[in-house]
Amino acid sequence: MAERDFLVDFAALSRIGATEHGGVDREAATPADGAARRWLLEWFDRYGLGTAVDPVGNMYGLVEWLPGAPFVLVGSHLDSQPTAGRFDGAYGVLAAVHAVAVAREAVSAGALVPRANLAVVNWFNEEGSRFSPSLMGSGVYTGKLDLAATLAVTDRDGVGVGEALADIGFAGSDPMPPAAAYAEIHIEQGRVLQDTGTTIGVVTSNWAARKYTVTVRGEQSHTGATHLADRRDALVGASRLVLAVRELAERFGRDQLLGSVGRFTVRPNSPVVVPAEVTLAVDLRSADPDVLGKAHELFLAEVDAVTAAGEVSAHVDAMSARPSSRYPSSGIELAEAAARRAGLPTRRMVTMAGHDSVNLNDVVSTVMLFVPSDQGISHSEAEHTEDADLLAGVRVLTEVTTALLTASHPGGLAG
Ligand SMILES: [Zn+2]
Repeated sequence: MAERDFLVDFAALSRIGATEHGGVDREAATPADGAARRWLLEWFDRYGLGTAVDPVGNMYGLVEWLPGAPFVLVGSHLDSQPTAGRFDGAYGVLAAVHAVAVAREAVSAGALVPRANLAVVNWFNEEGSRFSPSLMGSGVYTGKLDLAATLAVTDRDGVGVGEALADIGFAGSDPMPPAAAYAEIHIEQGRVLQDTGTTIGVVTSNWAARKYTVTVRGEQSHTGATHLADRRDALVGASRLVLAVRELAERFGRDQLLGSVGRFTVRPNSPVVVPAEVTLAVDLRSADPDVLGKAHELFLAEVDAVTAAGEVSAHVDAMSARPSSRYPSSGIELAEAAARRAGLPTRRMVTMAGHDSVNLNDVVSTVMLFVPSDQGISHSEAEHTEDADLLAGVRVLTEVTTALLTASHPGGLAG
C-alpha cells in the first residue's frame, strides 16, 4: 500500500457529494452519503476485507484471523455537515482503511502476529445535522442510545433514521463486532498544532458539553395590524436567548466556556406574521466541569428570565450532557511511541469537539490522534490539511494499529 494510493483514494472519495468550493455535502443517509458508503464497500471488496453493516448503519471492513476474538476497531465517519469540508471524518475513515490494509499485509508476510482481529469502521451519523443527536452510530454501538428509539428519530421532513438507511441500502442486520480497542485519527479543527509547528496531536481528554433544545412560544398575529402592546413575539424572546448565550460565554473569560445557538427555527416564518414559535439548539462546552456546571445554572436562569419578562414563554424541551473524561495513559504513551518511530513530533492536547472516540473511550481502550487543520477552520468548505500532514497521520495511525494488534492484552490499556 503506497502513500500515493492514499492521496488518489482521498481525491476519489472527495468527489462524492463535492460542492462548488472544494467541500462536500454528505449529510447522514442522504444519497451522497449512500454513494460514499458504496465507494467504501467496493474498496473493502477489492482488498478482500469482509463487510458488515449493523442495524444502525455502522459499516465494518473486517479482517478475521482469530475466530471469535474481539476486534481492534479503527475508524471515523463519512457523513458531513451540509456544505462542509472534505477532511472532517472522511480523512479518518480512509486513514483507517490504509492502516488496516498495511497491517493485514504485514500479517500475511509473517512480519506481525495478531492477538486480535481487525476492522475499519464508518460510524453512522457522527455529525448530528440531519438527525439528532450527534455520535449516533457509536452511541448505539456502546449502548448509550437505544436502537429502536434511534431508528425512529426523524429529520425535519419527518423521514426516520430507519427509513433513510433503507432508502440508501444500508439498513443492515449484521451483528456489531465486539471491540478489543479503538483508534481514530481526525483533523484537529483548531489551530494548536499549526501554531506550535506540531504534526501529531495525542488527545488526553475531551471537553464536557451540554446541549439544549429550547422552545419560545408567543402568539401569531399580523405584523401590520397588531399594536406593540398586544404583540407576543416569539422571535424577540428567542433573540434574547441567542445573545444571552454569547454573553454567558464571554463572562467566563477566554476559552473557559464556548457557547452558541446552532439552529434556529422560526414558525411560521412569514414576512408579514409575528412569529408564534421559535425552536433553538443551544450548545455549551468547557474543559472544566465546574465552569460548565455554573454555566448550566446561569443558562437555565436566562430561560426563566425570558418567561418572567412576560411577553412570551420559554421552555427547555430536552437537554443532554457529555462529561469530560480522560483517555487511558497507556494509549497516550503507545501513540507517542508510534509517532517517535515515524520520526514525528507530538503534542498532548484536549479535544474541544466531540468524536466517536469519546463514546468508545467509555467502554474500551481508546487512542485519539489529530493532524493539523489550516487556521483551525472546520465545518466549512475552506477546511484544509496539507498532504504531508495527511500522510504523516496515516503513518502514525498504522503504527498505532499494529501496536494495538500485537499488544498482549489489546483491551487492557487501562490507566
Ligand atoms: Zn468529525
